[in-house]
Amino acid sequence: MSVSVAIVGTGPAGFYTAEALLRKGLDCTIDLIDRLPTPYGLIRFGVAPDHQTTKKVTRNFEKTALNERCRFFGNVTLGRDVTLNELRGMYDAVVLAVGADNDRRLGIPGEDKRGVLGSATFVGWYNAHPDLRDLVPVLDTPAAVVIGNGNVAIDVARVLVKTAAEMAESDLPEFAARAIQASPIRDVHLVGRRGPVEAKFTNVELREMGHLDVAQAVVDAKDLPDVVGDVEDDRDRRLKEKNLATLREFAAQPAGGKTRRVHFLFYASPVEILGGERVEGVRFERTKRDGDRVVGTGQTFDIACGLVIPAIGYRSLPVDGAPFDSRKDIVVNDEGRVAPGLYAVGWLRRGPSGVIATNRPDGVAVAEHIAADIPTGAKPGRVALEKHLAARGVRVVSFGDWQAIEQAEIAAAHAPAPRRKFERVTDMLAQLEKS
Ligand SMILES: Cc1cc2nc3c(=O)[nH]c(=O)nc-3n(C[C@H](O)[C@H](O)[C@H](O)COP(=O)(O)OP(=O)(O)OC[C@H]3O[C@@H](n4cnc5c(N)ncnc54)[C@H](O)[C@@H]3O)c2cc1C
Repeated sequence: MSVSVAIVGTGPAGFYTAEALLRKGLDCTIDLIDRLPTPYGLIRFGVAPDHQTTKKVTRNFEKTALNERCRFFGNVTLGRDVTLNELRGMYDAVVLAVGADNDRRLGIPGEDKRGVLGSATFVGWYNAHPDLRDLVPVLDTPAAVVIGNGNVAIDVARVLVKTAAEMAESDLPEFAARAIQASPIRDVHLVGRRGPVEAKFTNVELREMGHLDVAQAVVDAKDLPDVVGDVEDDRDRRLKEKNLATLREFAAQPAGGKTRRVHFLFYASPVEILGGERVEGVRFERTKRDGDRVVGTGQTFDIACGLVIPAIGYRSLPVDGAPFDSRKDIVVNDEGRVAPGLYAVGWLRRGPSGVIATNRPDGVAVAEHIAADIPTGAKPGRVALEKHLAARGVRVVSFGDWQAIEQAEIAAAHAPAPRRKFERVTDMLAQLEKS
């Protein structure tokens, strides 16, 4: 009997696992379950709307979904429509790939004031995640502070300062485009606890900040060291050298000419969000290097702003029925093995780091484990899930249904935008009733 595998979560980690199982040639059926009618996880709802090329990896995932061994079960939520214990009863192997879509908190006074929005929330909003459609971000302010020195922080800053023309080829939804274009934000402060050498920007993303139509990247040359210093890994050192060179170019640019600015600030750690009910600024403590660590200096300064976006990382929530490490915010696992017949991959397994392709080795490892642990199938898999969901009255969205949704999005787009995303699950389901 074929080994029945359920993969919960259809972001990169889920799809790489399915792909690896198919490559191994294992006699198996693979059911790909997602709580949304749309597959691809953060490729659709995280990757920036103006970085369409990055999203093209979904074409490979589409081939996987269309493989005869695979079936997509969209609009099915683990924990609501089916529990983990139920799934484990139905399938020989269950792979958890539900990601980490919650904001990590700053843990400082004032962070619940109106105008503080974590990057998971803000990015989900401007990418039309249905959960965030009713969010009304505070954008009526001349200045925003983005806390963090990674690519997500850069994405957020860039989306805030790009013009409508620069976003024309993106799939930024109209409601977000309207709100952002109407905003008086002119200064975005991108603030990192550590120095320019430790910043986690990739160089392509950083360089892009030097080529924006109306926004200038502002860097104080005094913040930039002459050399990168001791970095053992050659690749890492080259990246840091490139970033430093890019930041030097920014620092050398003459001021003026452009109407918006993205200020890169280093060695500053937020200690308090200032204001009354609404954010009025952020107090930072200057930091300095102390060996490998950075430590506070006791010296503080304030930046006035009405919007604060902490881009300091994502975290997973516990999955009912799976052991959870609440210090690391990941499912307890040994190289992807969680319990007999239960596995985890991607951000849920190792935390929120790396690019799309970083999730591939997780999938490969878990495919190896499944092949080694479960030589033949014993559980019914798909038929049992179908019966269960039908009894619950769940409207399962098939991959064909998703393709119909996608075609409707493409047809509704105003050129040169690639698609006009549906904003609500109910609208997606209504579209399916029509087609
Ligand atoms: C803002 C942002 C920008 C990024 N930009 C880039 C980039 O430009 N290039 C790059 O290479 N990488 C980028 N990344 C990283 C990349 O997106 C991640 O490495 C990758 O998406 C993590 O994959 P995952 O499968 O673990 O999680 P996810 O992609 O989050 O997928 C998890 C899936 O699980 C589903 N799910 C969640 N809960 C349930 C449930 N209860 N039941 C059923 N399904 C559920 C979700 O709907 C989702 O589809 C970015 C990440 C972020 C946050």
